[in-house]
Amino acid sequence: MDDRQLNVKPVSPSQRVDFRCTRCGACCRHLRESVPLNTLDAFRLAKHLRAQGEKINCLDSVFARFAEPVPLHESGYSVYMLKTAGPDDACIFLQNNRCTIQPAKPSACRLYPFAVEPKGDGLYTYLLSMEKPHHFKGRQVQARRWMKENFPKEDREFLETDLGTAPDIVRLLMKIPEAERQQAWVLFLWYKYANFDLDRPFWEQYRQNMAKLLAGLNQMTKIEKGDIVYGHKDGTNQTGF
Ligand code: SF4
Repeated sequence: MDDRQLNVKPVSPSQRVDFRCTRCGACCRHLRESVPLNTLDAFRLAKHLRAQGEKINCLDSVFARFAEPVPLHESGYSVYMLKTAGPDDACIFLQNNRCTIQPAKPSACRLYPFAVEPKGDGLYTYLLSMEKPHHFKGRQVQARRWMKENFPKEDREFLETDLGTAPDIVRLLMKIPEAERQQAWVLFLWYKYANFDLDRPFWEQYRQNMAKLLAGLNQMTKIEKGDIVYGHKDGTNQTGF
């Protein structure tokens, strides 16, 4: 258990906590490998940055510029975490103690000072992050209400769907021969984090990508030594990562 976990305590949905954002920027520092940027977060962020005039035309450019993959499991299953900069490991989007992507910040940032832990069947344990004691004064915030405002249905659906596919992906990755694991990882990154057209609806692409990823990994588990390795005729497994 790391320090961050030690500073988190469960709260009931009806519980009220004193919380006020003091705009000190403290919760955006010392964040190395700790703020997840999931695929839905990145899709929204890409569209936001593009609307602000940034040259963003694909999802993998957002991940490559602003995040880095962090393996969660020996299989290579990875999530992306926001990059940090400077001696205090500040979030790459923090400037003058202000978040520069406020309307499109990741769901983990919107939820702060709360976090959620899925229990299954659409239920969650609510957690309160206690590591910045000076935040806990000011107006009263009810956990349930905070969640309703900052953890909308689309985010809940995404979290549940994404976590739902994880065990199958891990199982298949573990079955793939060691020599092909790197190629499987590239396939994983491509379908889970890169193969999105910003001008098409997110969910249709996400579901198609997950189906293709599972089919591709399944195919790779059947590779025998000496077989031709799985790949796309159109070269679309070149992710740029
Ligand atoms: S995205 Fe914004 S709110 Fe989240 S850690 Fe970075 S600066 Fe802070």
